[in-house]
Amino acid sequence: MAHDVHIIGGGLAGSEAAWQLGRRGIRVRLSEMRGAGDMTPAHQGAGLAELVCSNSFRSDDDEKNAVGLLHHEMRRLDSLVMRAGEKARVPAGSAMAVDREVFSAEVERELAALPSVEIVRERIDRLPESGLTIVATGPLTAAALAESIVGATGSDRLAFFDAIAPIVHRDSIDMSVCWMAARWDKGGKDYINCPMDKEQYLAFHQGLLEGEKGEFKEWEANTPYFEGCMPIEVMAERGVETLRFGPMKPVGLDNPHWATAEHPNGRWAYAVVQLRQDNKLGTLWNMVGFQTKLKHAEQVRLFRTIPGLENAEFARLGGLHRNTFLNSPVLLDRQLRLKSAAHVRFAGQITGCEGYVESAAVGLVAGLMTAGEILGSDWASPPRTTAMGALLAHITGDAEAETYQPMNVNFGLFPPLAEVKKKQRKEAYTERAKAEFGQWLGAIERVPA
Ligand SMILES: Cc1cc2nc3c(=O)[nH]c(=O)nc-3n(C[C@H](O)[C@H](O)[C@H](O)COP(=O)(O)OP(=O)(O)OC[C@H]3O[C@@H](n4cnc5c(N)ncnc54)[C@H](O)[C@@H]3O)c2cc1C
Repeated sequence: MAHDVHIIGGGLAGSEAAWQLGRRGIRVRLSEMRGAGDMTPAHQGAGLAELVCSNSFRSDDDEKNAVGLLHHEMRRLDSLVMRAGEKARVPAGSAMAVDREVFSAEVERELAALPSVEIVRERIDRLPESGLTIVATGPLTAAALAESIVGATGSDRLAFFDAIAPIVHRDSIDMSVCWMAARWDKGGKDYINCPMDKEQYLAFHQGLLEGEKGEFKEWEANTPYFEGCMPIEVMAERGVETLRFGPMKPVGLDNPHWATAEHPNGRWAYAVVQLRQDNKLGTLWNMVGFQTKLKHAEQVRLFRTIPGLENAEFARLGGLHRNTFLNSPVLLDRQLRLKSAAHVRFAGQITGCEGYVESAAVGLVAGLMTAGEILGSDWASPPRTTAMGALLAHITGDAEAETYQPMNVNFGLFPPLAEVKKKQRKEAYTERAKAEFGQWLGAIERVPA
């Protein structure tokens, strides 16, 4: 069958994009390499939209939770992943969990029933030179295609591993303890600095040594990322001073909270944890050099012993994984198109979103944008006050390109509501998002369904 759009990758994002296009009568070729003799290191079978690890779509609470809100918005856009998820749902309290076999089979059944979608089991090794294309090959994109993407984007624009440092919500940092400064006062006062005295540092160092760590999967071990992005606990193992000469270096940072008559500008701490702004809104701050393989609960416990971060709320915790993703803020336009080759859109985790639901949501949006392009309707992105819009804005330009790492949807991506008390923030964001999503749905020239 001739096609209007070629989708490469039949995971969460590719399947969702195919659904949004196919049910509008647009002819899609959906190429999935599993089932044609190829496999990724994490998938087990050949089914579309296979969930490679947990069977959870996380919270389904659309009043107080950003991913629950994303579920809500996806349902309003008749998401296939949400629809199949409902059919496959298993009890999981306020979370949405699914029977993975039923889920994958349901996605495949719905897509196969669409006459305009052709599912082809084949591996694609090159980015097509023409024709509308959606690349949704995920965090484990096959090697030849990854090489072809590097050819189109530049070798430093496609990462093969994430090295994630935790990200903290700005309003949870205690600025009566921390201060803004750059080392040696060079440039602007761009960093938030958390000071430690010797006793605190030694206790923290011991905590890193003793902290429970996550295991590397067999295919993640012996990877070259240790050269550039060593986990802090590995640095700690190299000696008690290593961190003080690395990411926790205190020199050139006068702490004004420790000013005395003798040192009116303040004094240096024994060690310093620095945080760098991570999004244009200034709501999210990245712990510099703190990529880690510590278990999540351990990270929360240990990092809250850092002075000024006692009440830190984390938008993202640290991690290190095999993960292929683009530097999307630089490479993609607001419509998820490659700036250097506008016939190619990217969708799913390869854009640098993180998680099943987020990947599917970006696939959904990519499908709608492509449909809009074909049908000639002007498909405006959802407002950035919505979960979908906030995620999209982050990926396509609002995130700091230099430190770009995969990100789940979270309220830190939403434009702040200054007048709202912190305790009511989530409800207020949700209320605003739902109202504006509704208006947007009503106002846009709808892509006909
Ligand atoms: C090991 C691992 C565990 C994860 N666990 C979780 C978790 O528990 N919860 C969570 O929310 N997220 C998890 N994620 C993150 C992420 O949400 C999933 O990877 C998600 O499946 C991403 O969706 P996607 O559609 O972008 O990619 P995928 O679902 O991986 O789909 C990509 C598809 O493209 C195919 N493909 C690749 N290259 C080619 C090619 N050249 N030609 C044709 N087809 C190709 C693959 O076979 C695959 O089917 C995990 C990721 C990994 C790697």
